[in-house]
Amino acid sequence: MKQANIRNFSIIAHIDHGKSTLADRIMEQTHTVSERDTKAQLLDDMAVEQAHGITVKSRTVRNHYEADDGQTYEYNFIDTPGHVDFSYEVSKSLAASDGAILLVDATQGVQAQTVANLRLAQQNHLVIIPVINKVDSDAADVPRTEAQIQKLDPAFENLEMLKISAKTGMGVHEVLEAIRTTIPAPTGDKTAPLKALVFDYMYDAFKGIIAYVRLIDGSIKADDALLLMAEQTKVSANSLGYFAPNMTPIGELNAGDVGYVITGLKDPQLVRVGDTMTAVANPTTEPLAGYEPAKSMVFAGFYPKDNNYNELKLAIEKLSLNDSSFHYSLENSEALGAGFRCGFLGMLHLQIIRERLQDEYGLEVLTTAPNVTYHVHLNGQTEPMIVNNPINFPEFSKIEYVEEPFVKAEITTPNELLSDVMKLAEKHKSTLLDMDNQADLIVLTYKMPTSEVAYEFFNQLKSVSHGYATLDTTALDYEVADLVKVEVDINYATVDALSFVVHRQDADKLTQELVKKLKVAVPRRLYPTPVQAVVEGKAVARVDIPPLRKNAAVSGGKKSISKKQALLRRQGVNKRQSAKNSIDLPQAVFNAVLELD
Ligand code: GDP
Ligand code: MG
Repeated sequence: MKQANIRNFSIIAHIDHGKSTLADRIMEQTHTVSERDTKAQLLDDMAVEQAHGITVKSRTVRNHYEADDGQTYEYNFIDTPGHVDFSYEVSKSLAASDGAILLVDATQGVQAQTVANLRLAQQNHLVIIPVINKVDSDAADVPRTEAQIQKLDPAFENLEMLKISAKTGMGVHEVLEAIRTTIPAPTGDKTAPLKALVFDYMYDAFKGIIAYVRLIDGSIKADDALLLMAEQTKVSANSLGYFAPNMTPIGELNAGDVGYVITGLKDPQLVRVGDTMTAVANPTTEPLAGYEPAKSMVFAGFYPKDNNYNELKLAIEKLSLNDSSFHYSLENSEALGAGFRCGFLGMLHLQIIRERLQDEYGLEVLTTAPNVTYHVHLNGQTEPMIVNNPINFPEFSKIEYVEEPFVKAEITTPNELLSDVMKLAEKHKSTLLDMDNQADLIVLTYKMPTSEVAYEFFNQLKSVSHGYATLDTTALDYEVADLVKVEVDINYATVDALSFVVHRQDADKLTQELVKKLKVAVPRRLYPTPVQAVVEGKAVARVDIPPLRKNAAVSGGKKSISKKQALLRRQGVNKRQSAKNSIDLPQAVFNAVLELD
């Protein structure tokens, strides 16, 4: 395909505004898939994506479009995830695009994520085509939506906007024409040294690491010797191709193309998203700007459940390759043994990684309470200790002061919900910095401790605003805070993996709530088990777990003799072991900490 006939574009939208539906219609109308093959939401094929109804990983699809001018065009559609927790992924997809369709649902109008995604697209210097969707719906208010979009950018003010129904296909042809006439063709030089943006990676059990690339200059042929510039990793282009939407091999990728390269590489540590790929024979001298690595906001421990540490390690390595905003390192707990300290963009991200481990690898993990990164200044030390694991939080007598991270939280909300949203923000130790209007929405800017935003705030915001408010956060600096470590003793032995760090003012309420939950969650034993929460050496809350009423020797007649004996043996063993080791810790015990609010 000659470069002038290539278009690389994304669709950006607020969640549920119809991005996946429009992508399906585009693939149908360009005959990439037949209508018969189109099950709804063709691209969201990861199990967690279907469960949450959101697109987590970016996808690319090459379509061939026979345009009204009689020529055939190559339309590379680069899908972006729709969720606020993944704006980092949105950015990556947009860096590989030249233009974007800004899709707005006429029944809802401009929403917070419409604005946030538009800003990301503008930062990437993309040409933007606003499109109004769902005009078939009785609830559609097209004039209002159009007026709202016009207010977003001076360039939209006198624009005749496309009005479509992604559901029925009405107006989709006009969108395809607008892509051709509005979005520029890529401008790279096919004969220059290879310079390709690696905007994503995927791990395949048989083929190894597959790089998603957008070629800026040069070309790649099968068997070319390639260089990933960040780590100076040499790879061979075992095979290459594009997605349509399945992997389709091709002999050559050229400047302007979007496609994949199967590298054969097996070690996830050697590759990195945002890297520049060049040719060993004739390398480029300047790598692309790449992306800022995503910073983890929330940390939690993942521990193997059934002695499958090695399996878990492999799965975590592969996931971190596929999701460059997920970080991990090894950690150890006395109670749980070897595990991983994992870093996430937010709680939804944590939940998704957990579900992917289960769906894609059949692995269940124990998850410990989330925390942020603390700067702990010890007596007589100049440099702070960086702590992102409560197990390592030092003893209180050694601490001079502690700092915690803050974020700037921008909440975009409809006017009607303003007071509910402000009340919620106040409960989370926030300081209002600014209040502004965007279209018919209010944008509130707060300064808040990262910990307040990272755990439950997002869900609570969704709940008080019925999904209409959105949140965008930017990291600020660290500031002094009055924090304490809560330790949990079960049967007078500290269970290190249950420790967590909180603001002192919340410690009382949280520990009372915690022991109440633990009373139900800690498995009963033959004798009463005391559980206490300890802050700075003092027990601040306590419950006694009542004993099991009957033991195996007298309970029920249904168990076989040998099962009864086994049970008795186990109970006997438990009694002789140290308290610490005999405690069976189901996820419910960790949930008691995870679900505190
Ligand atoms: P996404 O989250 O942006 O990918 O949104 P989806 O494509 O998943 O669409 C969200 C919901 O809106 C689905 O139930 C779609 O069937 C529905 N939808 C999408 N486009 C239209 C449309 O043009 N008209 C109507 N009435 N519903 C639509
Ligand atoms: Mg979708």
